[in-house]
Amino acid sequence: MSEKATNRADKDFVFPREDLCDFVAAYFDKGPLFLDAVKQNPSPLYVLEPEVLRQKANRFRACFEKNLPRTSFYYAMKSNNLPAISGILLEQGFGLDVSSGVELQIALDLGARDIIFSGPGKTDAELLLAIDNQEKVILLVDSFGELERLKKLLEGKQKTLRIGVRLNNNPSGLWRKFGILPEELTAFFGAVSHIPNLLFTGLQFHSSWNLTPARQIDFIIELGGLLRTLPAALLAKIAFIDIGGGFWPSQGEWLLEDPTEKEVAGHDPKNAGGERDALLHYRIPALPIEVFAREIGAGIKEHILSLIDCKICFELGRWICHESMHILIQVIDKKASDLVITDAGTNAVGWERFEVDYFPVLNLSAPDLTEKPCHILGALCTPHDVWGYAYFGKSISPGDVLLIPTQGAYTYSLRQNFIKALPQVVLI
Ligand SMILES: *Cc1c(COP(=O)(O)O)cnc(C)c1O
Repeated sequence: MSEKATNRADKDFVFPREDLCDFVAAYFDKGPLFLDAVKQNPSPLYVLEPEVLRQKANRFRACFEKNLPRTSFYYAMKSNNLPAISGILLEQGFGLDVSSGVELQIALDLGARDIIFSGPGKTDAELLLAIDNQEKVILLVDSFGELERLKKLLEGKQKTLRIGVRLNNNPSGLWRKFGILPEELTAFFGAVSHIPNLLFTGLQFHSSWNLTPARQIDFIIELGGLLRTLPAALLAKIAFIDIGGGFWPSQGEWLLEDPTEKEVAGHDPKNAGGERDALLHYRIPALPIEVFAREIGAGIKEHILSLIDCKICFELGRWICHESMHILIQVIDKKASDLVITDAGTNAVGWERFEVDYFPVLNLSAPDLTEKPCHILGALCTPHDVWGYAYFGKSISPGDVLLIPTQGAYTYSLRQNFIKALPQVVLI
């Protein structure tokens, strides 16, 4: 899932110990709260902090509202599909961004009234669900073929569906599967104009893994160039431009391997463990969201709002939920001074995350700001079941409660029904 930040290969990526210790200390300070959760509920647990989610929502919205005249914010449900998270963000005035009929149904069941539905390969059943709920859903069309199928599905219906179209901003490699090419936009408008029950309302693009706003701004400039070529009658139809998500949390990307030496995407997890220096971690820095807001805001005003008066929409996933959920597990067995087995397996996160990404393991039962090498492994019958290669604490023993903080994004949604029961969710 990782992509390499090649443009920074000359920088020093070693994670400064002080910064890491500050991060860890803040979670040890909250330790009693987490220990209490394990007393009240059986370990392992996913722990959700609704207040963190609310703060993140408000911070993101405040800084973009400061830099842009008209905005709307949507939560990308796929990043963490726990319905309570979508519910809390709805209460904060967010809409929901869904990528399938399953997610659309969850959004409808939660009472969402402002939903955007994007994604490739929508089935007829998914399109019909959108049509049936047309007053709540804007459908972001992914292709000409999808538009054709929509036309057929709308025949004889008295409903008007609001649509936008996704523009592809990365036509090489595997990202080419998304949307239509920018140069196809005029043809797309032409095709839509022949379909009576469709109301064209906007454009969408999305890029992932943005540690800086550079990629988003590049496409905003390209989009401005494209808009300049369109007739005024078409520009007048664009009520929104949705710039997607992909904002990286300002903690940066934390890795076990030196990204200057190893292609992270090609990392062979079978070699994980062994020779690794358990205490050497890496961090690829990311800019604070305020900087994204300032620079993206300026780019949009210069290149887009100078041509059209439209609303700017955001689809936030990782940035908003990453810090809101943590995983609590317990040590079941100590098999050597540097080898413990925990009561949960990494089926709780659904992928071999901690063989690539670094996250600290905090021993809440014996807190200490020194990190000690130790294999912290799960209880699955596979060696690819690693929580970490070290822990923060005085010592480690059976019964100790361990916290893996900031696991809110792309873990809970990817959890697997594999060997061990999945953790329960508690809100604190
Ligand atoms: C996944 C996705 C998002 C959210 O991405 P994050 O990196 O989690 O912010 C937003 N929009 C679309 C279209 C997506 O596919």
